[in-house]
Amino acid sequence: MIQQHPEAFIPYVLTAHHNHEKLIEQALAFRPNTVHIGCKGSYPLVKEALHGTGIRVLAGKADLETIVTLPEIDLVLVALVGYAGLKPVINAIEAGKDIALANKESMVVAGELVNQLTKKHRVNVIPVDSEHSAIFQCLAGEDYQKIEKIYLTASGGPFYGATAKYLETVSRAEALRHPNWSMGEKITIDSATLMNKGLEVIEAKWFFDLEPAQIDVVVHPQSVIHSIVQFVDGSMKAQMGLPDMKLPIHYAFAYPERLDSTFERFNFLDYPELTFGQADQNIFRNLALAYQAMEKGGNMPCIMNAANEVAVEAFLQEKIGFLQIAKIIEQSMLAVGFNPVPDYNDLVETNTATRVYVKKNILKI
Ligand code: MG
Repeated sequence: MIQQHPEAFIPYVLTAHHNHEKLIEQALAFRPNTVHIGCKGSYPLVKEALHGTGIRVLAGKADLETIVTLPEIDLVLVALVGYAGLKPVINAIEAGKDIALANKESMVVAGELVNQLTKKHRVNVIPVDSEHSAIFQCLAGEDYQKIEKIYLTASGGPFYGATAKYLETVSRAEALRHPNWSMGEKITIDSATLMNKGLEVIEAKWFFDLEPAQIDVVVHPQSVIHSIVQFVDGSMKAQMGLPDMKLPIHYAFAYPERLDSTFERFNFLDYPELTFGQADQNIFRNLALAYQAMEKGGNMPCIMNAANEVAVEAFLQEKIGFLQIAKIIEQSMLAVGFNPVPDYNDLVETNTATRVYVKKNILKI
């Protein structure tokens, strides 16, 4: 997109977590002022590869949390995974930057706080998550008060229609095989457990100022309708496109304009049938737990999110089975101290306490 519209964008900082090869490749192509590598072990490699280019190289968590505030930056795309995205989001908003938000966990954990800061600092937070981008696009020119409900579409993941008995023994590799979207490991497991949809339900509440009863989930295995808004007169608007994250990123970068793209176009004849179904919350407990956490409010979504992050990591390391993920989250939501009106420091504490609880009391590590 930036190559196609060099007049509209100057990449000032590029960041990556582990993938130093891609970071070096893009740094040489786009010549940003600064690059940042999350994983400190890769710092010498990046530094060496960019030697003589004049590009500044930074590494580690603390630098990441401050580079988002550089005065030259107008817009920050936050695509970090998990709770780690929260601090950079807050810092960037406080520095007056617009945010293109792909990191759903920051909204889940601290949606109320993020919204308060967004208002106070008069910045835009533009959704990049495909479902929320869809809703946001459907709401262009509409009054948010006239939303009756929204339907977030879910692919159903690799285990749609599976029985609990089958899910007991599914492997890491099977869970990582997402039918439609190509994404990182954590979000792919979240898609298989439907926690991804649960997180998105809470994310939607804060993005669009909705009551829990106004947010519904519909399984749509083809993933071409990215979500739907139903208005008070019963009319519905949906946004469609091929399942590819390039488009929501493109829209967020161009907002409030639309810029042309050369992305592949949708062909109806490739999709003669669009189908819809129901998510089974008895089997995919995580979706039910997310609704419970949203209803309860306070730091409960933070507890749920932290427990999920630790549980997914344990599943990826093959220390626990697939169905244990939901059990760990449920147990943590009952055990970790509830706080109905947490401030930022309370959320930091809740996140740490939940991780410690899961590791010590459940995983025994
Ligand atoms: Mg999504």
